[in-house]
Formats: sequence, C-alpha cells, structure tokens
Amino acid sequence: MGRRGFTTRQLHEREAVPAPTARATPIYLTAGFEFDEYDAAASHFGEGHGYAYTRTGNPTIEAVEHRLASLEGGSQALLLSSGQAATSVALLGLLESGQHIVSSTHIYEGTRGLLRDNLVRLGITTTFVDDIDDLDAWEAAIRPNTRALFVESISNATNRLVDIAALAGLAHSHGIPLVVDSTFATPYLVRPIEHGADVVVHSTSKFLSGHGSVIGGAIVDAGTFDAERSGALFPQLVAPGRTGAPSFAERWGGDARIAYLRESVAPRFGTTPSPLNAFLLGQGMETLSLRVQRQSENALAVAQWLESCPQIETVDYVGLPSHPDHALAQRYLPDGYGAVFSFTVRGGAAAARAFVERLEVFTHMTHLGDVRSLVLHPASTSHVFLTEAEQRAVGVEPDTLRFSIGIEDAADLIDDLAAALAFADDAAVAAV
Ligand SMILES: *Cc1c(COP(=O)(O)O)cnc(C)c1O
Repeated sequence: MGRRGFTTRQLHEREAVPAPTARATPIYLTAGFEFDEYDAAASHFGEGHGYAYTRTGNPTIEAVEHRLASLEGGSQALLLSSGQAATSVALLGLLESGQHIVSSTHIYEGTRGLLRDNLVRLGITTTFVDDIDDLDAWEAAIRPNTRALFVESISNATNRLVDIAALAGLAHSHGIPLVVDSTFATPYLVRPIEHGADVVVHSTSKFLSGHGSVIGGAIVDAGTFDAERSGALFPQLVAPGRTGAPSFAERWGGDARIAYLRESVAPRFGTTPSPLNAFLLGQGMETLSLRVQRQSENALAVAQWLESCPQIETVDYVGLPSHPDHALAQRYLPDGYGAVFSFTVRGGAAAARAFVERLEVFTHMTHLGDVRSLVLHPASTSHVFLTEAEQRAVGVEPDTLRFSIGIEDAADLIDDLAAALAFADDAAVAAV
C-alpha cells in the first residue's frame, strides 16, 4: 500500500498476520469479522456459519462459554453483559405477556426488582414463595400460565438452600423448567443441572471472574427441552420461522431454549458482553476451584469463630450445624459451604456501624465473590428499597451485616474481627 495516501494507509496497512497458537485465550476485540470469501456472507446469514458481528458471536466469548458449560455440566452456555442481563434474557426467552413465574422470596434484590417492577410492565407476573422448603406451597402457586420456577442455590441474606431435585421434579411434572441463580455457589460447589435443574444463571461479576474487575453474566442450559412434552407451552420454540424455516426445536432438539436465547433474545435485546470482559472471566475461571475452596474454608473458620463470640447475636452460615438448612447443605454442598453470609452484632445499628468502621482487612463495599474480604450493611444499602417488614421477611434486620470472605490468611481476618468487635463493644457501652 506504499503509494496510497497517508490516511488510507493509516487504516488499511497491516502485516499478513500469522495465526500462531496462543496458549491463553486470544482476545478478539473486534466489532466484526471479515468474510473470507464472497459466499461466506450469505452462508453466515443463512445457516449461521462462521463469525460476522460480535453481538451475534465472537471466538473469545465462545471459548469461555464452552468452559463454563463444561464446568456447570450443561449442554451450552451463553455469556451476557451482566448477571441482571442473564436473568432478564433467560426469563424473556421463556415467558411472554400474560404468563407467570413462581419465585423464591429469598433472591437477589436486583432480581426481585426485575420481577416486581419491570417484568410486570410487560404483563409477566410473579408469585413469591416464602417457605421455600414447603413443596406444597410451590405446587399451590403454580397456575396454568406458569412457565418457570425460579430459585437461588444459596440465597442472600440468610443462606437459605432449596431441595433442587425435589423442585425440579415439581417443575417437570408441570412441563416447565426450573431456573436456578447459582451465583453464590458457583459450579465448584453445586451443579444444579446434575440435580435436575434446566437453566442456571450466574452473575459472573462475582466468584466466577473472582477479582472484582468485571461485570458479566451467563446462562447455562441443560439441553433438556422436550418438544413432545412441553412444545404446547413454549410455542416460540416449536413454531416454524417467519419464512417457513424449521423451528428451534427441529434445529436444536434439547438445546432449543438456549439456541432461541442466543439467536433471538440476547442479540435483539443487545446484552452482549465485551470480548475483553469475557477474557477476564475466562482468566478468573482458571482458578475458580482454588479460590472457592479457600474462601469456603476461611468462611467456615470465621463463622465458627463469630458464633463463639459473646458480642455476636446470630450467624446465618449454612456451614454451621446451627443453620436450619445445614442438612440440605451436607447433601448439596459436599465441597464447601460458600463464602457469603450474614450475622448480627449485639448493640444494634450503632455497634454494627462502629464494627464496620473499625475493620481494616475487610473492605466496606457492595460486591461479593471477590478474592478480598468484603463487608456490607444490607438494611441501608442492597435492601434499602424494601419496607422494614419486607427486610425482616428475608432476614435483614437493622443490625445485620454481610460478609463475603476472601482468600486472605484466616488468622488475619479473625484478628481484624476481634479488634473491631472490641471497638464496637466499647461504642455500644458508650452509647448506653
Ligand atoms: C450480583 C448478583 C446478580 C446480578 O448480577 P450483576 O452482574 O451485578 O448484574 C444476580 N444474582 C445474584 C445472586 C447476585 O449476587
């Protein structure tokens, strides 16, 4: 291109790029891809071959999807721009106006807002089940227009677990899927699909990427869509395409649900992640087991220590025998009990405040699943949009604090807590 103008060369000059085999996942940070030959364009748009535009497919994103599907024991995964995008897309693929979700009450506040404020405006309503151990309560909430059951595998704020296998059985007896938000557990601790769940969603911003640097989300599907059994309930998956093309079920069989999300829902609602974020997620996932194992060990040590402290009123950690769901945890979480839990300090909100302000190793912020230990006061932050009665119903009291335990040396965490507790105790005494 030597003789072309400066600006043209600035745009078009490039080496003939060799394609060496990179050991790390290459980052295809590009909006689009060249069609190597003329007919490749039509073949992409017609049959979906190859890559054209990152909103509909990107090799970096797909490499990470492949890894996550394998870890989760699913058939396929789909990465999205955030955990909220993952839940939104998963539900928008299953439900339309006039239809209904049955959800656990014990869910992430962003999801509760999505169900109560946003999906409602699209004509999709939700019934919440408080007592999630009560299978009859779930059954009673299911209506002819229900198209999904929704739960979290380990819930905020009180570490509630649910019998995934039993709930999956109930969902299947109605021909509908069980959708599990497994953000707190990660596939290292529990793989809901192995227990019968159909769809798993994640905020990959948390443990999966692990370092608190990127926002992301994912949907993993079990590949269990059964057109014979459930086709009438999900016409979008079994109806022919607008030009008479075969339906998603005909083209993808059991993977019809996630193919529909990948081809129709996610690219239209525009929830694509950046390839750079996908790379950082993939990088984080390479140490998932090591981090979550260590975080779970640290969390158990911290929870046991807290429970032994006279200044601590309650500790809601499912790894402790005192937790009401401990038996379920032994069945579902054999490799560790996770790293996020709540507790209350004696002395009320003033003591809680003094405690947080005195902590040095713990970071005060609204996030979780980071390699660093974090602390948060839910009543004034994540749960501030609930009434006090609603806060109580999900286990958030005015003096509840939440930890997300990191990978630090456990002894340093406990020393930090001991110093902060002594300080909070003095503050509480001074306040009286
Ligand atoms: C953080 C979180 C979400 C939302 O994910 P974002 O990545 O923040 O959009 C959903 N569910 C759970 C359980 C979460 O912790």
